[in-house]
Amino acid sequence: MTTSFWQQAHRKQEAAYDVVVVGGGIVGCSTAYWLHRRQPSLRVGILEARTLGAGASGRNAGLVLQGTHTDYRSDLDRYGKQAARRLWAFTRDTRDLLATELRGTAFDWRSDGSLTAAGTGDEAERLRAGLPHLRTAGAPVVYLDPDETNARLGASGFHGGLFVTTGAVVNPLQLVRHLAAQSEADIHTQHPVEHIRWHDPGVVLHTPSRRVRAGRVVLALGPSLPSLVPATSAYVRPVRAQMLATAPADTTHISVPVYSHHGGFYVRQLEDGRVLAGGGRHQHRDAEETSADATTPAVQATIERYLHTYFPWTQPLSIEQRWSGTMGFSPDGRPVVGRVPGHPEGIFATGFTGHGMGYGFRMGRLLADLAEGTQRPGALDLFAASRFENTERPSESDAQQTAR
Ligand SMILES: Cc1cc2nc3c(=O)[nH]c(=O)nc-3n(C[C@H](O)[C@H](O)[C@H](O)COP(=O)(O)OP(=O)(O)OC[C@H]3O[C@@H](n4cnc5c(N)ncnc54)[C@H](O)[C@@H]3O)c2cc1C
Repeated sequence: MTTSFWQQAHRKQEAAYDVVVVGGGIVGCSTAYWLHRRQPSLRVGILEARTLGAGASGRNAGLVLQGTHTDYRSDLDRYGKQAARRLWAFTRDTRDLLATELRGTAFDWRSDGSLTAAGTGDEAERLRAGLPHLRTAGAPVVYLDPDETNARLGASGFHGGLFVTTGAVVNPLQLVRHLAAQSEADIHTQHPVEHIRWHDPGVVLHTPSRRVRAGRVVLALGPSLPSLVPATSAYVRPVRAQMLATAPADTTHISVPVYSHHGGFYVRQLEDGRVLAGGGRHQHRDAEETSADATTPAVQATIERYLHTYFPWTQPLSIEQRWSGTMGFSPDGRPVVGRVPGHPEGIFATGFTGHGMGYGFRMGRLLADLAEGTQRPGALDLFAASRFENTERPSESDAQQTAR
């Protein structure tokens, strides 16, 4: 079907903002929140292709963990002492800011701690090896022996665990919606940005029915970033994660969220007794390198097997829901933040590598700083895309190790 000149002119509405955020996930909505918090007079718009939280941010397990997707000992080896410590502090800031800035009842905030449980003896050794370093970094952690770990979770088979007193959980979709509401931004859902015209100064963003002008733009599109900025295609790739939810159990066995097998599995129990579990991707890597929104019998069977083995009391519970979501994985497991090449008024953040709830709220503050003109806000160096400059292609070896 064609569109006449007259129909087009009527359809395309114009809007103008100081800052436009593209992507209504945890990162985009956190950015809008902090822009408003810092400068209430700023005109901010959010352009979201589908609905708020339609991507990974509304499909995840809601674990707000500190550190990266992997254990601290591995972070030390991969990033070095200073960076590992600062990454921990950054995610701790996310947790603390969520606790102090927002009304937790709006998104079922609970911070009773989290347990990183070891699926093997080797993993237990690795967790134990990271313990003194974590303590030096100021992390509130306690090592639990196998009996204690299993007793706390109504589980059997774990080889020990690291209890982090500041671990937390949220309802991720409600958190995203709450942030968007608090930001007082104009929210345009069902508005996929199809292309961006860079002007000097400012930008014009085109959706099928709208032309939106902005002084600056923050691109928080998760794994879809390269569709608008092809130059970022080496920084992120889509990876699928799958989850399931059981019928309610009579008793609460799992009092804190569990992250085990190097993050390969994650479990939490809701107040109504339902168990949410996800992961298993590490046993099906090739099949899960996709952005297709679909569950597969193989991964779902892996998650069920894990649940029934480590939490035998879940065996009689029927599975009520199964779903998937697409994450953006970076080449080295750390988020990637930068300015669009040749267009400093364009800022992007992607590659949260299965850990965006741990980074998101604090990252929104960093992105707001950048959008307000701060050239090098604190912590930017941890995530700067420039770390990949002068490398022919970012090494993928580390990313292969990543979990979720
Ligand atoms: C099953 C699953 C479980 C997970 N569990 C956890 C967990 O427990 N803890 C944790 O920390 N992390 C978890 N994660 C990872 C976490 O969900 C992500 O890291 C995080 O949500 C990324 O947020 P984002 O805002 O960068 O991206 P997204 O949530 O993907 O948001 C990007 C948004 O951009 C929109 N968009 C895309 N293209 C366009 C366009 N052209 N125009 C306009 N809008 C566009 C999309 O519709 C989407 O809403 C999990 C992920 C999955 C899938």
